[in-house]
Amino acid sequence: MELINEAARETPVIHRTDVLVVGSGPGGLAAAIAAARAGAETTLLERYGCFGGNLTQVGVEGFAWYRHDKTVDSEGIGIEFEERAKSMGAANPEPQSNSHAIDGEAFKYVADVLVQEAGITPMLHRTMVATIVEGDVIKGVIVESKGGREAILAKRIIDATGDADIAHRAGALVHKTPVEEMMAASVMFSMNGVDKTQFIEDVKSNPHTYSDWCGPDWSMETTGKEDKLFSPYLKKPFEKAIKSGLIPANLNTITGTWGAISEQGDLSYLNLVHLAGLDATNPDHLTRGEMEGRRQAMLAIAALKQFNPGCENAKLRNFGMTLGVRDTRKIDAVYNMTAQDVREQGQFEDSIGIFPEFIDGYGILILPTTGRYFQLPYRSMLPKGVRHLLVTGRCVGGDQDSHAAVRNMMCCAVNGQGAGVAAAISIQTNVDVADVDIKKVQQKLMQQGARIH
Ligand SMILES: Cc1cc2nc3c(=O)[nH]c(=O)nc-3n(C[C@H](O)[C@H](O)[C@H](O)COP(=O)(O)OP(=O)(O)OC[C@H]3O[C@@H](n4cnc5c(N)ncnc54)[C@H](O)[C@@H]3O)c2cc1C
Repeated sequence: MELINEAARETPVIHRTDVLVVGSGPGGLAAAIAAARAGAETTLLERYGCFGGNLTQVGVEGFAWYRHDKTVDSEGIGIEFEERAKSMGAANPEPQSNSHAIDGEAFKYVADVLVQEAGITPMLHRTMVATIVEGDVIKGVIVESKGGREAILAKRIIDATGDADIAHRAGALVHKTPVEEMMAASVMFSMNGVDKTQFIEDVKSNPHTYSDWCGPDWSMETTGKEDKLFSPYLKKPFEKAIKSGLIPANLNTITGTWGAISEQGDLSYLNLVHLAGLDATNPDHLTRGEMEGRRQAMLAIAALKQFNPGCENAKLRNFGMTLGVRDTRKIDAVYNMTAQDVREQGQFEDSIGIFPEFIDGYGILILPTTGRYFQLPYRSMLPKGVRHLLVTGRCVGGDQDSHAAVRNMMCCAVNGQGAGVAAAISIQTNVDVADVDIKKVQQKLMQQGARIH
C-alpha cells in the first residue's frame, strides 16, 4: 500500500476536565450523568449532533421490551431514562411487554435536558480520532471537527464509543467478532400515515409469536417458554411480496419486528433489514451497508403498503441518522463475562448492578419471565494495558452469549452508571480506576438508586 508522511503539528488544548466520557449512547449518557452526580467535573463528547447513541441516532426504541410480570429489573439511571421519556411525552406503549418504547426523535431533547440538569459540559460534533498516552496512562484525546484538530485532557476517560475506539487506539487489548459471526447491521426506519385501527386489528387476527423468528436459513435457541409468547413480528407481507415478484427471492431476510404505533399513525422502530457480513469498523463496509440497507427498506415499505392492512396510505417517515451497528470490538477485560454468568445468575463481589436474564443475539432469545437475574462485575469494564481508562456499553469484556445480554440498552446504562461513579471516586481517592475501593463505589451507586445485588 502507498503511504505518505503527515507533517508534525501543534494541537491546541481546548479543554480540561475530571471525567471525559466519549460516546453518548445508553452507556455513555448514564456514565456522564453518574460521574457528574458523584461530584466530578464531567464532559460528554459525541461525534453526531445529538446525545443518545443508537437510541436517537438509529431509532432503536425498544428500551425494555424484555420486561414481563415477574421480571426483576435493573434500577438506576436506565429506569430514569424510561420514566423521564414517559413524563416528557417521549414514549409510546411497547406492544410485547410491560414497558414503554422510547421515542427516538423526542429523546434527543430529553437527553439534552438530562445533560444540562446534571451540570455536564456538552460537546457535540467532535469526533475522537487519536489518544494521548504517556507510558501506560491515558491523558486525553485528540478530536476533529469543523473547528479543526483539538486536544482535550482528562484525569479519567470513559470509552463509550460502542466500538472500543479509545481502548483500541490507546493500545489496550481488544478483539473483534469474526465478520462471518458478527450480528447483522440494520438500516432502521419509521413510517407515518398508518391506519392504527386497521393495523392493530390485523395484528390481533394474525398474532405472531417468538417461534416465528425462525426462518428457512436460521433458527433461534429459546428455553421453550418464549415460543408461544406474542411478538410484534411482520413476516406475511414479505412472503407475499416475494411471491408476487415485488421483492427478489434472495431477500427473504426482510422480516422482523415493529416497535410501536402512535395514535397519529407513526409506525416506528421498524427492524426489518438485516445486513450480514459487514464489519462496521470498515468505512467501505459501512457505505455499502447504508446504501443497500436503504434499498431494502424501500422494498419493505412497498411490500407493507401493498400487503399489510392499515399501511396502504403510509409512507417513509425517516431512516435512522446512521446504520445500526450491533457488534464490533470488545475489550479483553480484567474479567471477561461468560455464558454461565448470564445464564446461571452470576454473582460477583465487585457487582455494580443487576440485569434480568435477558439474552438476545447470536441466535439466542431468552426472556426474563421468571425473576432470574445476574450481577455485573466492575472488572468487565477494566481494559488491560492502559491506566485511567474505563470502557462501558456494548464493548465490555465477555464471550458471545454474555454479549447477547450486556449489549442491551438497559444493561449498557447499568454498566455506564457503574463506570461513571467509579471514575469519580477514583479521582476523589487518588487511585487508578483499577484500584478503586469497590465498596465505596457500591455505596455511592446505591445512593444514586442503583440495585447492586
Ligand atoms: C438495529 C438495532 C436494533 C437493536 N435493538 C435493540 C433493542 O430492541 N433493545 C435493546 O436494548 N438493544 C437493542 N440494540 C442494541 C443496542 O442499541 C446497543 O447495544 C446499545 O445502544 C449500545 O449502547 P452503547 O452506549 O454501548 O453504544 P451506542 O448506543 O452505539 O453509542 C455509541 C456512541 O458513541 C458515539 N461515538 C462512536 N465513536 C465515536 C468517536 N470516535 N468520537 C465521538 N463519538 C463517538 C456514537 O456516535 C454513539 O453516540 C439494537 C441495536 C441495533 C443496531
